Parts: sequence; C-alpha cells; structure tokens
Amino acid sequence: MAPITKEADIVVLGGGSGGLASARAASGKYGAKAIVIEGKRLGGTCVNVGCVPKKVTFNAAALSEAIHDSKAYGFNVQQVAPFDWPTFKKKRDAYITRLNGIYERNLNNDKVEYLHGHGRLLSKNEVEVTQDDGSKVVINTKKILVAVGGRPAPFPNIPGADYGVDSDGFFDIAELPKKVALVGAGYIAVEFAGMFNALGVETHLFIRNDTFLRTFDTMIQEVATKEYERLGVKLHKRSELTKVDKDSNGKLNLTHKDGEGKESGVSEVDHLIWAVGRVPETNGIGLEEAGVKISDKGYIVVDEYQNSSVDNIHALGDVTGEAELTPVAIAAGRKLAARLFGPPEFANAKMDYTNIPSVVFAHPEIGSVGLTEEQAIEKYGKDDLKVYKTSFTAMFYSMMDPEDKAPTSYKLICQGPNEKVVGMHIIGLGSGEMLQGFAVAIKMGATKKDFDATCAIHPVSAEELVTMK
Ligand code: NDP
Repeated sequence: MAPITKEADIVVLGGGSGGLASARAASGKYGAKAIVIEGKRLGGTCVNVGCVPKKVTFNAAALSEAIHDSKAYGFNVQQVAPFDWPTFKKKRDAYITRLNGIYERNLNNDKVEYLHGHGRLLSKNEVEVTQDDGSKVVINTKKILVAVGGRPAPFPNIPGADYGVDSDGFFDIAELPKKVALVGAGYIAVEFAGMFNALGVETHLFIRNDTFLRTFDTMIQEVATKEYERLGVKLHKRSELTKVDKDSNGKLNLTHKDGEGKESGVSEVDHLIWAVGRVPETNGIGLEEAGVKISDKGYIVVDEYQNSSVDNIHALGDVTGEAELTPVAIAAGRKLAARLFGPPEFANAKMDYTNIPSVVFAHPEIGSVGLTEEQAIEKYGKDDLKVYKTSFTAMFYSMMDPEDKAPTSYKLICQGPNEKVVGMHIIGLGSGEMLQGFAVAIKMGATKKDFDATCAIHPVSAEELVTMK
C-alpha cells in the first residue's frame, strides 16, 4: 500500500514534555502546521513513569511520616492501618490516564496533529511514520524536532540481573512489598529508597561509594546519606551486586561484594530495582541516515539554540543529555518554537541553562541551584568565595523525641566583593517548595546583602537563609 503523504512546518518526534510544549507553541501561538509523533502514551517519562506518579507516591510516603509524627503532637494514633497500595496504585494510574487525555485534548485545542506510531527520519525534510496498524505516512516538513527523551540504562551484566526491574517497573508494582533492594546513587534510587522506607518497607540501597547524590554539594551528600542510615535504610556502601537468584516463591536472593571483595547476601527480596542512570532513546529513528551528529554517550549534539549538526533538525530535552528535567525541556521547546515561527523579536530566543534549580524528593527534601562549592572553587578560586553554612533542627521537630528529628542544613556560596550568590544548597523539611522563590532571586543576581536586607519570616526554616552569619 502506498504511504499517505502529508506536509508540515514542523514534525516533532516524541510526545513528552519538551516535544508537546514546542509543538503546541509552534501551532497554537504562531500558526505553524505541527505534527507530533508518539509511539507510547502522551506525556513522556514525566507524566507516565516519572515526576508525576513519583510525586504522588512521595505524597503517600509523606503522609505516612505525618501520621507517625502526629503522635508527638498529641494525636492518639493507636495503629496506623496498613497502607493500601493496590487502591493507591489504581487511583494513581487513573490520574495518569486522565492526564494522557488532557494532553491529547490540549493538542487538539492548539490544532497540532497527533500520529500514534513510530517515527523515523528519512532525510532532513522527510519523516516516515509507521502507524499502529502498520500503515505508513510520509511527511514532508520544513523542520524536524527530535525530542524522544531517554530510557533507563541497561542493567549491569551479572547473572540474574533481569530478575530486577528498572524505574519504569517501579510503577507496575502491584502490592506493598515487604523487602526491596535498589541499586544506584542518583535522584531515582534516592527518591525510591526514601519512599519505600517511609512506607515501612525494608529497604536495601546498594551504592558504589560512601555517599549518594555525588553530583550534589558535599554537604548534601553527607547529610542525606547519614540521614538515610539513621532512618533505617540499609545502605550497602562501596558494594556491588554480583548475582541475583530467584527462589521457588518468586523471592530474590542477592549476592553482593564489598570494597574488599568480601561477598555476602540479602535474601527474600520482593523487588530489585536498578536505578543506574538513563540513556538517550536514539536507536532506530534514522539519526545516522540523516547525518545527525551523536556524542560518545549517544546524545544528540546541539548548540545553544537546540540546532543539531544538520540544518532543519533540532533536538532538546533528555535526548541531548543537558539538564534532564521536565521544565528545562518545556522551556527549551517553547523558546525554539518562538525562534523558528514567532515574530522577529524572538529571532535569538534560546533557553538559558544557568542556575537551573532542582529538587530531590528525598527524606528530607533536597534543593539545589547554582554551583556546588567544589564547582565554585574550580571556577572562581577559593579566595574569591565566601561560604555560609548553618545546621539546625526545624521547629516542627521540637515536640518530637530525639530519634524522630530530621536534620536541616543550608549552604550559600557567595562570590566576589559583592558576595553574589552563585550556589544555594538546602536539605530539610519543606526545601522543595522553598527553593523556587530563592531561585528567582539568584537568577536575578542576588547578593548576600540582598538576602540580608530581606525581612525574615518567623518562625519558618527559610528565615535562616536571610540571617546567615
Ligand atoms: P543519575 O544519573 O542521577 O544517577 C545514576 C547514578 O547511579 C550514577 O550517578 C552512579 O552514581 C550510579 N550508578 C551508575 N552505574 C551504577 C552501577 N552499575 N552500580 C551502582 N551504581 C551505579 O540517574 P537517575 O537514573 O537517578 O536519574 C536520571 C536523571 O533524571 C537525573 O539525572 C535527573 O536529571 C532526572 N531526574 C530528576 C528528578 C527530579 O528532578 N526530582 C527525579 C528523577 C530523575 P555513583 O557514580 O555515585 O556510583
């Protein structure tokens, strides 16, 4: 059967955060003919197997902690009912399905055409789509945006590794497990481990070094790692899984070795989750055929305007490996649409990749914007910096027994005679919501003096950030 042919101004490969934002802006705001191609569910990683269902699960874990903490405030909580994971999961899945529908309606509202299927570049102006029924569509297009995102990195090559699941598999878990094991030291491993532990699951976390979140400021690494151990997460430092076996009851038995090569085991594990990073989803979409340059790690190489090495072909979001965060992809997508199809004042529109704030939904939450102390020293030299630090117990915990008190630690890294704030790192209750406003100030170039001139709000933890000595 001859393929159907279509014409477009822009074809977007990938219906995730960045691709959808860009296509909707191109069509809805600037009147371009945009076609989005997606083979899975609309919304990409963030909506389906990332930020959204993760945050809903984090909220459940936070409620479990709040129920526990409420006793210290005089609530007579005799016995917390076991967490009904199946009911929770059903509601969480239904919420995601609702969002998928909203995303599709938003595309309709902005007159973006949506094809469900697999897209492949045939040239810099042609995209072939294999639809679910096997029929083919060939689109002649002026521009192509590759926003196909990423997927979990392959599991290490050890016997039985495939008995584990990746972070996508986390969202399929049907019952509250008794015992889980996670491997990895980044956002995902730390967030999942914290949630399981808070929900009362025996949680083993295997990391290759002495701390996790090693791309974060050392203060964050140290405080968070110590706190996880205090909270009861069974942290296996400097360790590596060497073998996974499955017994007749479907439970997993893990063999691991420590830094000295000594082997030991963890038995009766319900789920093993590999969270050892993510890789770009670049296979089989015709990038090589179209001549698009790929980095050693497989990411699409782009310049600051999201231009790939081939005219007309652009890329953004996780497939470029640059700050793999939803709001970054959305902002980059909107800027690109404005530059390509907007009025002349947007001719140089581009995403500014500096001072991107991010939050790890750990226990407690972690927020970070700007440079770590190590990065600041490398960039400016130690003598040009002044670092302010504080650690305290948030007032919320004043009613608690010592074992229920979580730490709070803040760090401000200031540079130059004006003490411009070039890095802010916070861990403690409420850090997630706290960071956004401070990120505005830091983006605007706030100095320590500006922080000090801001009247404190009492009593909140954040007041410590404007009263640091
Ligand atoms: P990350 O890249 O953040 O972390 C993976 C870490 O796992 C590595 O840094 C490494 O740490 C460790 N690791 C790698 N290989 C192995 C191995 N074989 N055995 C044990 N540990 C290993 O990846 P994630 O998958 O956690 O997250 C991907 C990205 O998604 C993040 O970088 C972030 O941009 C985004 N994300 C953002 C979230 C948020 O904003 N809240 C939440 C979740 C994801 P080490 O070198 O220390 O061993």
